[in-house]
Amino acid sequence: MSLRNFLRQMETKKQVLHVKHELSTRFEISYFLKSFDNEGPILVFDSVKDYEGKVVANVCGTRTRLCFALNTDENGLYGRLEDAWRASKKTKIVADGGVKQVVERDINLSKIPVLTHFEKDAAPYITSAVVHARSADGNIENVSVHRLQVLDRKHLAIRLVPRHLFKLWNMAKDAGRDLDVAISIGVHPAVLLAASSPVAFGVNEFDVGNVLLNNDLRLIKCEHVNACAPVDAELVLEGRISASKEVVEGPFVDITGTYDVQRKQPVVEVVGVMHREDYVYEALLPSGAEHRLLMGLPHEVLIWESVSKVVPRVHAVNLSVGGSGWLHAVISIEKQLDGDAKNALLAAFAAHPSLKHAVVVDSDINVHDSVDVEWAIATRFQASEDLLVIQNARGSTLDSSANQETGLTSKVGIDATRPLSKPKEKFERAKIHVDKRVEGFVRKLRGV
Ligand code: MN
Repeated sequence: MSLRNFLRQMETKKQVLHVKHELSTRFEISYFLKSFDNEGPILVFDSVKDYEGKVVANVCGTRTRLCFALNTDENGLYGRLEDAWRASKKTKIVADGGVKQVVERDINLSKIPVLTHFEKDAAPYITSAVVHARSADGNIENVSVHRLQVLDRKHLAIRLVPRHLFKLWNMAKDAGRDLDVAISIGVHPAVLLAASSPVAFGVNEFDVGNVLLNNDLRLIKCEHVNACAPVDAELVLEGRISASKEVVEGPFVDITGTYDVQRKQPVVEVVGVMHREDYVYEALLPSGAEHRLLMGLPHEVLIWESVSKVVPRVHAVNLSVGGSGWLHAVISIEKQLDGDAKNALLAAFAAHPSLKHAVVVDSDINVHDSVDVEWAIATRFQASEDLLVIQNARGSTLDSSANQETGLTSKVGIDATRPLSKPKEKFERAKIHVDKRVEGFVRKLRGV
C-alpha cells in the first residue's frame, strides 16, 4: 500500500483540495497549510514555483483519515495500534519496484521542493521522513521520524532526540563508523504512524506498519547504504550519519509552535537519491494537525492503557489541540467510587511523562469539545477537593514555562467528574426530547 493509493481513495471521498495557484516553497505553501490546519483537507499543490513536481500535505491531518488509513473507526483505533505494537510481523523485501524508477546520478537536494515553514527557520526542512537504520550485526532495526535541515546540495543536519536512532548512531560511533540510513519521504500514513509509535528498542517499526497494512508493506534494499525503504515510497534519500561531523541545528519550530533551542546535531551525507518518475513531495507543517496527531495519538493509546488499569472503564482520551497534542489530556471515564478520577490522573501522568495538565471527566462529556470540557470544570469541579498539583516533576523539554535550568515543571490534575457523594439531580444536564420529525426539521435548516 502506498501514499498514492491512499490519495486516490481520499480523492473519491472528497478529502483532497487542489491548489492551482503558483506558490513558493519558501513560506507561501506553509502559509496555506497553517490557514487550513484544523480538520482541514489534504492539500495538493499542483504548481510549485521553480519546481516541476507537486507537493502534498496534511495527509494525516484528521482522526477520520487516520482511521480510514488503518481500516478501522474511532472506537477501534487504539486497539488496532496496540495489536500491531504487540505482534509486529516481518516485512517482505522485494528486489525492485516503484521508488527505483529513477536512480539519480547527480545528488542535488536543491532539486527537491523542500519547504521553509516559519520566518525564523534556519533553512528548508524535510519534516515527513521516516528514517531506517540497523546495528552493525543486523540484529537491531529501527524506523523513526526526524526533522532534517537542508545544509547544502549533499548534506542535511538530523535532529536526534536521545531515543532509538540516537542509540544506534552511538553504537556505530563507538565502533568508529558512520551510520547508514534510508530516509523515505511520501509513505502510507500507516507507516508514518508506525514510525511514531513508542515501541521498545529492537522492534522494527516497519514490521509494525506491516501489521497495520495487513501484511502488505514491501521494502527494498538501498543501492548505496545498508538500510531499507518502502518500495512504494515517493522519494528515498540514502545517507550516512557522520560519526564526527556536527553542526548547530535550527532555529526550527516544534510541536508547541514555538522555536526549539539550537543544539549541535550530526550531519548526514546524502550518497544516493531515488524516486518515482513523477514523485510527489510530502510536506508536514511543524506544530500543525499532522504533527500533533502523529506524535500525540500513540501517547493517547499509552494513557488509555494505563488509566484502564485503575478505573472500571476509559471512555475516550484526547491530547487536545490547544495543548499542542502533547501537553494537555482530557480523559473521560466511568467511575465506581469517588477517588477513581484522582487515580486516573496519576495513571495518565505516569503513562506520558511530558503531560503537564490533565482533566478527567464523566463519559457524558465529549473530550474533543473544549466547550463541553470547560462546562464540566465549571459545574463539577471544586478546587479545594478536586485539584491535584505535583511540583518539581520532569516534564516536556518543549514546555517554554518549565524551569530553564533544571527542566522541572509543575503538573496539574483536575477531577471534573460528578461527585458520587452529592445528589445526582444537581448535576443532571437538562435535555429536550422531540420526535424524529422535529429533529429532521432542525437538521435540514442547519444543513447537517
Ligand atoms: Mn524504535
